[in-house]
Amino acid sequence: MNIDKSIIFSPCILKPSTSLNEAISLMTKAKGSYCQFSSRENRMPTSKNLAKNSSCILIVENQKLVGILTERDLVKLTIQGKTLENTAIRELMTTQVVSLPYDEFSDLYIAYNLMRRHRIRHLPILDVHTYPIGLVTLSSLRETLSPRYFLRFRQINEVMTRNVIWDIPSTSVMEIAKKMVFNKVSCVVLVEDKSDILTPVGIITEKDIVQFQALDLNLKELTAEQVMSYPLFCLKPEDNLLQVYQKMEELRIRRLVITGEKEELLGVITETDLTNIIDPIEMSGLLEILQHRVNQLEEEKALLLQKQGIELHQALEENQFELYYQPQFNLSTKKVFGAEALIRWNSPEKGRVSPAEFIPLAEKTGLIIPLGQWILETACKQIKDWQKEGLPHLEIAVNISSKQFHQPNLAQEILNILTRYEIEPYWLKLELTESVLVQEIDMTLEQFKILKAAKIEVSIDDFGTGYASLGYLQHFDFNTLKIDRSFVKDIHQNIKNAAITNAVIRMAKQLNFQVIAEGVETQEERDFLYANGCELIQGYLISRPLSARDFSKFIAF
Ligand code: C2E
Ligand code: CA
Ligand code: CA
Repeated sequence: MNIDKSIIFSPCILKPSTSLNEAISLMTKAKGSYCQFSSRENRMPTSKNLAKNSSCILIVENQKLVGILTERDLVKLTIQGKTLENTAIRELMTTQVVSLPYDEFSDLYIAYNLMRRHRIRHLPILDVHTYPIGLVTLSSLRETLSPRYFLRFRQINEVMTRNVIWDIPSTSVMEIAKKMVFNKVSCVVLVEDKSDILTPVGIITEKDIVQFQALDLNLKELTAEQVMSYPLFCLKPEDNLLQVYQKMEELRIRRLVITGEKEELLGVITETDLTNIIDPIEMSGLLEILQHRVNQLEEEKALLLQKQGIELHQALEENQFELYYQPQFNLSTKKVFGAEALIRWNSPEKGRVSPAEFIPLAEKTGLIIPLGQWILETACKQIKDWQKEGLPHLEIAVNISSKQFHQPNLAQEILNILTRYEIEPYWLKLELTESVLVQEIDMTLEQFKILKAAKIEVSIDDFGTGYASLGYLQHFDFNTLKIDRSFVKDIHQNIKNAAITNAVIRMAKQLNFQVIAEGVETQEERDFLYANGCELIQGYLISRPLSARDFSKFIAF
């Protein structure tokens, strides 16, 4: 049998002649230890689970299941005004019990289908003598099944119960109990009548009512306000079902209230709603469903990409891109020796868009090729303009993305631009990330050769974040390592960061390449780096990236 046994509990079992008092104390206080072990003769490969949820009791007489007592039955008793002592379980229990013989329990879906068809929350599992040897509950099913059903793709509003039974907090608990029974619901939401919207302030559940009963409270005198549960854990209809599942797990509750934008009551989502999305047909064709959904998502993604690609293309045509420059500073000479060119997109609709967002997009759509060309061209023109302005000569580093680097004619194009603007090649640097160097090795090595011959220098960007070791990187003829800002952060306090950075600085000295620390934000970081032999830094401490005009003012100052 292919069943996850963790969903089968040992049920709580009592005799029909037992008093209701005992039944209730079992339901409200029992945490398994009160329950009898049911594996009478160990016929069932026992799950040692005790009932962690005693929301029902199975009634057994002459070693046979004769009835079931649920919270709902007890709420009914409450509104009938009967006392507990003088009522035996026999008078209240449900005798038509839907159950499942253990032999037929071949998979979870059988149990699930039965519970769904009969709208029940508890399913006793019987041995051949109709003795209950186990219990499957909706909660246990939900716990077992739900996460596999890709709840994150489903929204609450697909399945929530909109027809919520509500009342105001000053209502007596007895009235609330009546409402539950008459409307066949397991909870009533308490609302405050604010102007014309209903704002939920609390909730009362069947379980609460049973508990109040067990505590011998007078339900007629008690108002909902005095005993309702709050705070309410509310979600929005557009939240996904995984969030519901996780909240229920975390708070160990069976329902959540759903509110709208103005915190008004829209519905509730219960464990049953959650379990209901598991359609039996879906179960058999789960993989197909998943595949279908994946295809759908792929299509949506492709469409979005296409749309964004068009936008980016337009942006390039309409000149919405701009290069900013972040100074690079030498702590020994106390001078700015260079800058990193960083692209900015000033979108008329979206405002300032981060390159971290649109560069990967440009890579995917191929726009990076013309965009990269524009970046190189603009940076070179800027180098020349500043030289003409009489600014001290500066090394300008340009970020090159993977697709761009693997263009066979990249080096030649760069040389053409340099010639056109009459710039010596050493004023331009290319920043490459490690990820570029681990793809298409042969071509990459070839590209390095051409760049070397053309005297164009290369920096390794974000060093330490990729998978490439320094040993591997030595195959490539680069000049500078840029230590990623994640290693620079709090370097004076973070032992691990300090150790890594120090090792890199030492190796760099031995192997004769430069090290620049990126993302230096504080004096402490700067002082630490300098004391440990790193002289070149870049980061907000020196300056944020600046427009070309602000940059030349910054240098002149
Ligand atoms: P990156 O190459 O690592 O660039 C450094 C990023 O760190 C920049 O973000 C810069 O503004 C930011 N930064 C600089 N100093 C500090 C600091 O002290 N603290 C912090 N927290 N951040 C600092 P930006 O401009 O948003 O660029 C993000 C990434 O976008 C770049 O990372 C680079 O991968 C890519 N990118 C930017 N411009 C270009 C470009 O022209 N071409 C290509 N291919 N990629 C680019
Ligand atoms: Ca960079
Ligand atoms: Ca970087």
